[in-house]
Amino acid sequence: MDIKNGFVGTIGNTPLIRLNSFSEETGCEILGKAEFLNPGGSVKDRAALYIIQEAEKQGLLKPGGTVVEGTAGNTGIGLAHICNAKGYKCVIVIPETQSQEKMDLLRTLGAEVRAVPAVPYKDPNNYVKLSGRIAEEMDNAIWANQFDNLANRQAHYETTGKEIWQQTDGKVDGWVAATGTGGTFAGVSLFLKEKNPNIQCVLADPMGSGLYSYVKTGEIKIEGNSITEGIGNSRITANMEGVPIDDAVQIHDNEALRVIYQLLYKEGLFMGGSVGINVAGAIALAKQLGPGHTIVTVLCDGGARYQSRLYNPQWLKSKGLTIPQF
Ligand code: PMP
Repeated sequence: MDIKNGFVGTIGNTPLIRLNSFSEETGCEILGKAEFLNPGGSVKDRAALYIIQEAEKQGLLKPGGTVVEGTAGNTGIGLAHICNAKGYKCVIVIPETQSQEKMDLLRTLGAEVRAVPAVPYKDPNNYVKLSGRIAEEMDNAIWANQFDNLANRQAHYETTGKEIWQQTDGKVDGWVAATGTGGTFAGVSLFLKEKNPNIQCVLADPMGSGLYSYVKTGEIKIEGNSITEGIGNSRITANMEGVPIDDAVQIHDNEALRVIYQLLYKEGLFMGGSVGINVAGAIALAKQLGPGHTIVTVLCDGGARYQSRLYNPQWLKSKGLTIPQF
């Protein structure tokens, strides 16, 4: 028998998918870890589970307790599902710039959603800081604190990284991912580097994020902006501290958009915007390494979460972008 134990038991062990059109174009094996197939629909289910399990282990989260988090959406969705499955309440603080689909889903899942103005991290009313204060003021509540809680990257060290290593029989030359908290990039990079220090770990950064310049020059400098959600940062989170980064690539929105439409029309995969940044980053590394290499990246979430934006011609037009033609 092969039976998963509820929602929680269904997280992880996602397939690794060969992206055929991109592999043929580059002469490399471009492989995408299908995180959109997690039961909560994104890569963040893994971090959400480890954060809750760690809080339970430490006795911080007790029956009937509340999990509070500041999130661009996917971590909140993962937490809300797990809270339902385990009998906890969930409070989510989200910047009001995030897609309506994610907010609607959070409310449907029963989370208390507090949409707040998007202000920089240094502002005390930033959504992450606000979520910390809300947790502090509540009884029997924990702050998930995904950005600086190392249970996040531990999830990817113990599961995502190990799965990628096993699924490729260790024949992997490059690993590319964008970072939000950095949990995925960090956990996988730490695991793969331990197995083989020659594996190139490359950070893919959208415009409007300071990490590309950090990797290239040691200084965080922010230029431009991006329509992608859930990625980019203006600081080095605890999850990113001490993590090997071999290189970084900066990806523009029009490039990411071209990739997600190629994924849709040539690969049959309906993906979110960060996947465009990731796969574009994998292509850039493929060009650098040359044909014959294997490069792994993450397919973080599906396109339905962004249908009113990335797949809506009017919305794209309002951002000065057009739907790429195939
Ligand atoms: N893509 C999407 C769509 C996300 O929601 C997130 C998490 N915010 C990421 C990528 C980045 O994942 P991580 O937090 O592990 O860096």
